[in-house]
Amino acid sequence: MQYRQDKRNGKQLSILGFGCMRFPANKAKTEQLLLKAVERGINYFDTAYLYPGSEEILGEVFEGHGLREKVNIATKLPQVAVDTPEDFDRFFEIQKRRLRTGYIDYYLLHNISDFGQWEKLCKLGIEKWIAAKKSSGEIKQIGFSYHGSFDDFEKLVDSYDWDFVQIQYNYINSNYQAGVDGLRKAAGKSLPVFIMEPLLGGKLANLPKDAIEVLHKAKPGSTAVSWAFNWLWNDPDITLLLSGMNENSQLDENLALAEAALPNSFSNAQLQTIQDIKDIFNRSFKVPCTGCNYCMPCPKKINIPACFAAYNESYALSFGAGIYAYMMSAGAMGEFPHYASDCVNCGKCAKQCPQRIEIPKQLKNVRRRLQLPGIKKIMPFASKLMARGK
Ligand code: SF4
Ligand code: SF4
Repeated sequence: MQYRQDKRNGKQLSILGFGCMRFPANKAKTEQLLLKAVERGINYFDTAYLYPGSEEILGEVFEGHGLREKVNIATKLPQVAVDTPEDFDRFFEIQKRRLRTGYIDYYLLHNISDFGQWEKLCKLGIEKWIAAKKSSGEIKQIGFSYHGSFDDFEKLVDSYDWDFVQIQYNYINSNYQAGVDGLRKAAGKSLPVFIMEPLLGGKLANLPKDAIEVLHKAKPGSTAVSWAFNWLWNDPDITLLLSGMNENSQLDENLALAEAALPNSFSNAQLQTIQDIKDIFNRSFKVPCTGCNYCMPCPKKINIPACFAAYNESYALSFGAGIYAYMMSAGAMGEFPHYASDCVNCGKCAKQCPQRIEIPKQLKNVRRRLQLPGIKKIMPFASKLMARGK
């Protein structure tokens, strides 16, 4: 495992952090993955109040195996749910209890997407609250995870004495949200930068066929994940990247990559390969949805991320693959189907989308491309018939 220094506290952090948003359904498997990760040198684990069951299982495993002092736990305040000054303590106490710990190494304000959210928290007294928690040692480092514009990011970074930042960044998103300018801005203030969405919700692990050919030509046998991760680790301003690892094989591949990755090691030819993959990717993916689910639930029960995944597949793979995905996973199949055309344009979802996707507008495109005429009338009957035939 390679480590990079947190310039604010001098700690050595593993360049591969364990993203704990979703664990396997099997608890024993989760425990085995976490123990292996620690044994092989991962010392940064990123969870959140809003990740179902995640804080609890981390607390159980780390306390049960006496690992609390060996690892850094990062967790997040659900800042959108904070309405009163008392809410800061209310959430924080629950989190410490779930995590079975008296302190949090890296505490983040979750999913800041505009400067107004920080102003609201300031009015509720968050600066005083953070100062008290840092002075009692319950919070070691304070930061925020971010999905807004660069302008607001710059304002936010300059508005408070942060210890670190977490941004969405990958070779496709290098000029999106905080982007490369945000990365340099934070690094210029000696802030550690932690990266989320290094694979853009898994899309950079499943590149279109012609992109795979390009990277195999550049390095036979190399994987899409290796190019995405190594491009990030090539940048010395990046402290670590977060990856959710639900399978032993994923953990093994990522560990092998993190053992070999060095900053400033990419050649011009490798950078050109990334540019070539990027060009192909941008041509094939129409909606930059990462599948984060922040837009859900939709009051009309539309499975928004699945609609966009199907739409993108219809361009990246084939039209038929998109139709199939729309029918099977976007909810158009079944006795009570939900369609992109059910959208009533209430606007609730788009406000939550970190990618700033114009969801109702894009759902119209999904409908035009993937929703076969008359399907709304036919499907409920067809589904019943199919169910009877089973
Ligand atoms: S705008 Fe459409 S997709 Fe979004 S929450 Fe409202 S009904 Fe659902
Ligand atoms: S539409 Fe936006 S909020 Fe919804 S899953 Fe996609 S990226 Fe996330």
